Amino acid sequence: MKFKFWGVRGSIATPGPKTVRYGGNTTCIEITSSAGDLIILDAGTGIHALAQTLLDQRNLTAHILITHTHWDHIQGLPFFLPMFRPGNRINIYGGLEPVTHQGIERAMRVQLQHAYFPISEAQLKAEVRYTTLKAGEPIRIGSVRVTPTVLNHPVFNFGYRVDDDGGGSLFFTGDYEPPLNPYPEQHPGYSAMQELIDQKNEEVVGAMAGVDALIIDSSYTDAEYAERHGWGHGTYRSALDIAAQAKVKQLFLTHHEPTRSDAELDTIYSGLLQAGQLGFPVWLAREGDQYCLPFVAENPA
Ligand SMILES: [Zn+2]
Ligand SMILES: [Zn+2]
Repeated sequence: MKFKFWGVRGSIATPGPKTVRYGGNTTCIEITSSAGDLIILDAGTGIHALAQTLLDQRNLTAHILITHTHWDHIQGLPFFLPMFRPGNRINIYGGLEPVTHQGIERAMRVQLQHAYFPISEAQLKAEVRYTTLKAGEPIRIGSVRVTPTVLNHPVFNFGYRVDDDGGGSLFFTGDYEPPLNPYPEQHPGYSAMQELIDQKNEEVVGAMAGVDALIIDSSYTDAEYAERHGWGHGTYRSALDIAAQAKVKQLFLTHHEPTRSDAELDTIYSGLLQAGQLGFPVWLAREGDQYCLPFVAENPA
């Protein structure tokens, strides 16, 4: 299978001269399975440009997996033009929001309200179907198996593992902050909480284990994170740590912090490489870049 980044920015779209190389669109990844199935991970603003490449196709079937309903992951959904063409089939998948008990259809319904968007849900000409997924229960889409895992974030968030029968696997976190113990070590609640956190971490590492590509939220530097505990995002350090634990074959850092310029991303990246001994290739996600899986290590000449 192969995958392509259409949006790599976190929180808000950031077009402009300082982000032109890595890209300013919010989260969207296109996967093409070995059997040709079209799978889209998240519908940030990047999905708009992806949609332009699909306009000539008739009777298109697309599968859109939503990690969670923060704007930067759903805002492009009403602009996915294949939804307006009869004969197309658009399948949208996501989790059940535990507070409201509403499925992923809410993400469309809310955005297509008259006050926010000029076209109503009734005007979508494609056959649009919504599917509510359950944690740990895989579904089959053509040649791939997709398994959702709940990851820590202020709203319900699924990370998705995608395994292709024809070879290749990836895990995409959506937004993910590795949980922190809120208690100091001497607090009576510390040990019980730490046990829960360790169990959950073990589950998450197991879900990512051995993938050809881990695509992970790495919004912050350590210094930024010190001020932003509980905002729901990981760091470069937490990304490298969990990738090593899960023994992934390649690591892709994404959900770039919206104020981060191309030059700053380059500086951070060379700092990571200079720190050395990562044990696996590490890449910064960049709009337009495409990769084939499974990962084949280059033999040194
Ligand atoms: Zn986000
Ligand atoms: Zn989020």
